[in-house]
Amino acid sequence: MKRFVRYVLLMTIIVVILPLIIVKGCSTVIEDIVPEEKEDLTLKVYIKDADEVQEMSLEEYLKGVVAAEMPADFELEALKAQAVAARTYVYGRMKKFYSPKEDTHKGADICTDPGHCQAWTKKGDAMAKWGNLRAFDNWSKIERAVRETEGVIILYDKKVVNPVFHANSGGMTENSEDVWEGVEVPYLKSVKSEGEDKSEGYKVSAVFKEEDITKKLKDQYPDMDLEPEDLVDEIEILERTKAGRVKEIKIEDVVIKGTELRSLLGLRSTNFNIEKGENGEVVITTIGYGHGVGMSQWGANNLAKNGGTYEEILKHYYTGIYLDTIENFEASSQ
Ligand SMILES: [Zn+2]
Repeated sequence: MKRFVRYVLLMTIIVVILPLIIVKGCSTVIEDIVPEEKEDLTLKVYIKDADEVQEMSLEEYLKGVVAAEMPADFELEALKAQAVAARTYVYGRMKKFYSPKEDTHKGADICTDPGHCQAWTKKGDAMAKWGNLRAFDNWSKIERAVRETEGVIILYDKKVVNPVFHANSGGMTENSEDVWEGVEVPYLKSVKSEGEDKSEGYKVSAVFKEEDITKKLKDQYPDMDLEPEDLVDEIEILERTKAGRVKEIKIEDVVIKGTELRSLLGLRSTNFNIEKGENGEVVITTIGYGHGVGMSQWGANNLAKNGGTYEEILKHYYTGIYLDTIENFEASSQ
């Protein structure tokens, strides 16, 4: 009888329980193999040229930003650094961690104006610009830069950073407080940025008419008592930043900021020298391109050329930051 009970028990195990275990085991394995469909965030983008708001997925939007913000022939790791900076910026905007001074977006999260938010291009426009020969490779490279950094953002002290960037710092980036007065940001500190002097447009001389500059200055600063022929003699650079940019400049008796003169004359950077030219002309030579705070795109490419990874590049330009994914950030801040 005992043998019979043991037999029944064994058969039960073989016929009923074992298949259950196997089936359950299999289904677990299948679940593990098939990746969960990750839900991408959706944002509203105000397309400036078309004057319309479009909805798109975050990762798709980023491809258009990388294509517009950085030359596609830059190193892959530099493109990845750009993708992460751009993702961090737009994510910060979507969550309203930082906002523009005024909303010119028709309620969208972000716009495509590089002077206001960050640049963006349609895939078709980018490909047409690159031409048939390079279009496919360039786009695949940009897709790869976005895909291989999927969801990654930059954090400082458990907060999403505002990762400002510019084209070319001229050899050294700026402290944010030296460019945007009173705005001291712990991760936006002046650092060396090598290899930028090899880039196109590192040093550019622009010729202006004394008359034109004088008119612009007098329109903006009516107290300025200035004759065009005295312009250059009346200019005195009062203070430069550690990185060599003009902080304050005196023209006649009026003291203005380097950033003010830059925007008034449309200069490439505030690292400039002003000389008298011939025939009533003024030559202004600038070094670098952009405000000089945060990541330098040309500097990032140089680091990548020397073997730097995107994480190393970002850590170089944003002091004390670390990387994590949006998913982890959201889980830990709940
Ligand atoms: Zn904007």
